Order: sequence, then structure tokens, then C-alpha cells
Amino acid sequence: MATNALLTDLPDAVVLEDVGCPMGCPRGEEPVLTGHDRLHALPGTFSIVRCKTCGLMRTNPRPDERSMSFYYPDDYQPYADTSVSKAGPRKGKTRPAKRQGLFRRLLRPDPRGLPPVAPGRLLELGCASGSFLHKMAQAGWEVEGIEPSAHAARQACAAGYKVRNVSLEAASDPEAPFDIIVGWMVLEHLHEPLAALQKLRRWVPEDGWLVLSVPDAGGLEFKLFNDRWYALHLPAHLHHFSRATLTSLLAAGGWKVERIVWHRSAKNTLMSLSYLASDLGCPRAAAFFRDAGERRRFKAVGKTVGILMGLFHQSGRMTVWARPG
Ligand SMILES: [Zn+2]
Repeated sequence: MATNALLTDLPDAVVLEDVGCPMGCPRGEEPVLTGHDRLHALPGTFSIVRCKTCGLMRTNPRPDERSMSFYYPDDYQPYADTSVSKAGPRKGKTRPAKRQGLFRRLLRPDPRGLPPVAPGRLLELGCASGSFLHKMAQAGWEVEGIEPSAHAARQACAAGYKVRNVSLEAASDPEAPFDIIVGWMVLEHLHEPLAALQKLRRWVPEDGWLVLSVPDAGGLEFKLFNDRWYALHLPAHLHHFSRATLTSLLAAGGWKVERIVWHRSAKNTLMSLSYLASDLGCPRAAAFFRDAGERRRFKAVGKTVGILMGLFHQSGRMTVWARPG
């Protein structure tokens, strides 16, 4: 159902749709908050609601699939951060992934760490410009990607990788199964996350893996910062998971959670403080918090705070390993 009349400041190209919970629950939701696009300051006010049956939060109404590209400009930050050097993959010159010391791994586990399996076939969902594909190809993996942005997919293809420029929802089945499918901050962007998880289940064998990272809206950060929480990314983030709702959605999609790791990072908090300072009319404080993670004096403090937040599951970002189940 198109509900453009709800918002008056949207461009004509953006059509909103009113949808129910992806878990198939009966309609019935409670309002959580309203917010806007803080990443690019694009027009529109959006609401987050919580399903009264299962608790899963979603952006609703939301831009429909055809309208969503409006909120992903070519300078969308995740695309900009992932370009591969023009040298492309160094075929035949593979090298193992860099090993961290045990102490460091325990304190700051790699948020893109994979289950301990030998290199095989890997698919990255939303591979952007291909930097992770590049890293894994160098470590001996046979890699492929799916990327809905034509601009980003072109960059990854130009670097020599097999990347399909299509949304996951529209992607046809692959020629061969994958040993691991990864998606870094992807699931929350999908219009049909349950259908996507069910599709992905068909793309791995019984002993395969699905590794996803998502913002964690179940922690203190979300409650404290509300619409100023950095990981909200309205309206690009359509679903806002907690550990419990993510586990339920994965189970409905045919996946069993084996492990969840909370990222050891204070970035969400610092950026949320930057939003708060900006709203309070303190641009200098906003700039301080935005750049604090990069300041030499603050780096050690920021890392320590990030480790503590991750240890207590409060860093606002989590990575889940799941297997068919
Ligand atoms: Zn529900």
C-alpha cells in the first residue's frame, strides 16, 4: 500500500509502503521512535515500530525497493571505504590470513573473523567495491560477490572479481554451492530478510556457514541515544535486531546460531555523541567526538572503552555465525 501522503517532504521518486512483520506475525505494532537520514541529510521522516508479537523492530512505512536507491548515493560511505587497488587480484600469489596473537584475539576478535575452516568457495553479500573479496582471494578463497549498487559493483568487477550487480532478493541460484556466505552489515538493509535467509539456506551444503554482522539495537546504546543512535541509518536500515529477534529470524530462515561476537569498538557511541552534540548546537564538540577515534591521544582510551563495551555486549554491533539447522 503506497502511503506517500504521510510525509510531505519526500521527492516524487520515493514511494513509501506499509508492511507487516517479516516473521509473518499478525499486524499489531507499537511506535518506538521517529528519525531521519543523518548520514546524507536526505529528505524524509521515518518511524520505527516494534512488532507486538515477536518484538522485531522495523522501519515502517519504508521506501519501497524501487525507491530505495535514492537513499544510497554514489558517495554512500560503505562504498567509498571498500575500493580495491587497481592491481586487482594477485592470481597464484595467495598468502594465509595474518594471524593475531591469542591474547589480542581474545581482547579484540576480528569482527570479520570466519569459522575455522579451510579456504573454499565464499560469497559476499553486498560486497561494495570488493576489498573483502580481495583480502579473501589473497588468502586462497575462491570468491564471488553480489552487489546491488551498479557503481560499486563496477569497481569490484574492474578489480577482477565475479560480482553480480543484482539485489539478493532478485538473485538467481548460483551454479555451485558456497562453503561460507558472509554479509557485513547487510541483513538490516533487506526488504525481505526472511525470504533472503531461506534462499541463502539453499546456497550452502549441510556443513556450510552463514556469517553476518548487524547493528545490535538490543543494547543500552539504542535506549540511551534513541533517534541519535549512529547505527540507525534511517531509512536504509529497514530492520533493527536484538540478539533474540535475530536468532528467531535466522531460525525461521533455516539457520541455527552457533556463536555471536560483539564488536570491540566504541565507534557507535562516539558517533552518537557527535550527533547529540550537533543537535545541541555544539559543532566543536560534535567534531571532537566524530574524530576522537582517530586522535592519537584518545586512541588507547577509545580502544579500551570499545573492548569493555564489547565484553558486556553493549557495543551496538554483533557478528553471528550460523549453520543450517
Ligand atoms: Zn513479529
